[in-house]
Amino acid sequence: MDTVEEVKSRLDIVDIVGEYLPLKPAGTGSFRTNCPFHNEKTPSFFVNRSRQSWHCFGCNIGGDMISFVQQIEGLDFIDALEHLAGKAGVTLPSYNPQTSGLKKRLQALNDYAAKLMRHVLISDPEAGFARQYVANRGVDDLTADLWRLGYAPKDWHSLEKKFYAQGYTADELVKAGLASLKDSGSGIYFRFRERLMFPISDAMGHVVGFTGRILSQEKVAKYVNTPETILYKKSMILYGLDKAKTDIKREDLAIIVEGNMDAITSHQFKVTNVVASSGTALTQDQLQLLKRYTGNIAISFDSDEAGLAATLRGLDTARQMDFNIKIISYDQNLGKDPDELIRKDVKLWQEAVSRAKPIMEWIYAKAFELYPATTPDGKKKIAQFVLNECRYVAHPVERDAWIGKLAKALDVDPESLRQALKRQPAAELKTKADQAPEPAKPAKTLNTQDKTTNELEAIWLAIVLTKPQLFAKTDIHWIHPPHAKLYNLLEQSYNSPIPGQNQEPSLLQDSIAASASLEEDVKRLVDYLAILADREFQDAANDAIGLEFSNIDKRLKELSVHAQRQSLEFQMREAERLGDTEKINALLEQFSKLT
Ligand SMILES: [Zn+2]
Repeated sequence: MDTVEEVKSRLDIVDIVGEYLPLKPAGTGSFRTNCPFHNEKTPSFFVNRSRQSWHCFGCNIGGDMISFVQQIEGLDFIDALEHLAGKAGVTLPSYNPQTSGLKKRLQALNDYAAKLMRHVLISDPEAGFARQYVANRGVDDLTADLWRLGYAPKDWHSLEKKFYAQGYTADELVKAGLASLKDSGSGIYFRFRERLMFPISDAMGHVVGFTGRILSQEKVAKYVNTPETILYKKSMILYGLDKAKTDIKREDLAIIVEGNMDAITSHQFKVTNVVASSGTALTQDQLQLLKRYTGNIAISFDSDEAGLAATLRGLDTARQMDFNIKIISYDQNLGKDPDELIRKDVKLWQEAVSRAKPIMEWIYAKAFELYPATTPDGKKKIAQFVLNECRYVAHPVERDAWIGKLAKALDVDPESLRQALKRQPAAELKTKADQAPEPAKPAKTLNTQDKTTNELEAIWLAIVLTKPQLFAKTDIHWIHPPHAKLYNLLEQSYNSPIPGQNQEPSLLQDSIAASASLEEDVKRLVDYLAILADREFQDAANDAIGLEFSNIDKRLKELSVHAQRQSLEFQMREAERLGDTEKINALLEQFSKLT
């Protein structure tokens, strides 16, 4: 028996799942409950004791106890196995971080650093002020533990020794971004001193960097971050995603706040589908990460009026990626950010979240708050503000409805608004506050309408192989069988990385290409796609490729729906011919689910 089997044989999946979910018996050896991975009222999540498996008929996913722990804890295969092995009392073959890759080593180093600094915050006299600060912010011990808040001391001597005692080198401390080389060239100094430390984790919960907040001195930077390292790419991190992702998936909504403290406080008060953008405009990589869990985002707006237009334009990437965007707003007098609001009364935040408005609705209301609807100039400004957002409303009927509503409210002819919408290019609608640079335009645009489904599928896969960070689970129905096979492989390697292999996305391509078990047609496809990617995207900028990708993705989904409709229509005609009412109803239901 191998280790995996041994662990599984000593445990019962019903106990494992039962630790997380209330299970009710459902037939011989089966149990059911509401699925933790999607929102539902009728339980469609089943656990089967005799087969030691689980399946959700809503998500159409399932597996064994390891995959369940992976999903619910957001762990990779090895970590889930370790977790279960602990319960089963099985010792896994030892894993030695000293001998594995640099990334793993730096992750372990960061993890150790977080542990040391957590200890300093808890017990060092020097950190008394920081402890007071954390307590004053209302963060309880459990939360501080969970988010691993720490303190970077003024003098690193004792900590430095501990790193060396663990076998880490000065060079590795520099590579992890914890320290820098001295200008003199000899020796290192530590980047974070006298700061409250927030470890930053990737989506899998590995510590990849830190944010240090100064508490006392006024003259130095309020925040210091880990510089870009092989682990830490600022544009690819959403603070708290490792803790929020399961809830984001279940709620089918990601709430995005600005500050780290906003996220922490929100989680402490049980609003847990929350991540922080750490004060920057959302990047395509961050949104791509979220796309794995949901297509819906709600942004908490604490920016002042001046930042409004810029923030809104910052959402362009999210619009292009087909996110449904809602805006969370609240009375700024009650709190300037969610953290303050929650500390006043968590209900205020919960209400603000439940009141989140679709962006178009929010803009409409905001326009009338900002400008008077009684003067000609005010009407013009309201119209500009609303029409600018109207451009993003994809459906013509919905767009027209907004124009009609606006015309009525402003007492103007709807036709003049329609003309204004056509006439005014985006540039004219910019305000002074709106000076941030435009997102890069694609170097060249593929006309997705001209390509066959087969070609579009190939380009989709070619892009993902070259830019694995763009990979997102999709419900495209692949026409070409090898395309479907490759997609399934990509999805699998993302979901359950091969034990011992680094699941860093950039290695995905290599690991797939190198896999000896690849079927011949998939092997040939991967070769072809590498060439295709070279031909299509060799010189294109990252943003441009990202935009192409979302265009192609969108088009493929349209084509999928179209093809499924046709097939269902055909089946319906058949069922009608045979007078099979039950089948017709079933098909009709499937049909109505297609959007
Ligand atoms: Zn489900």
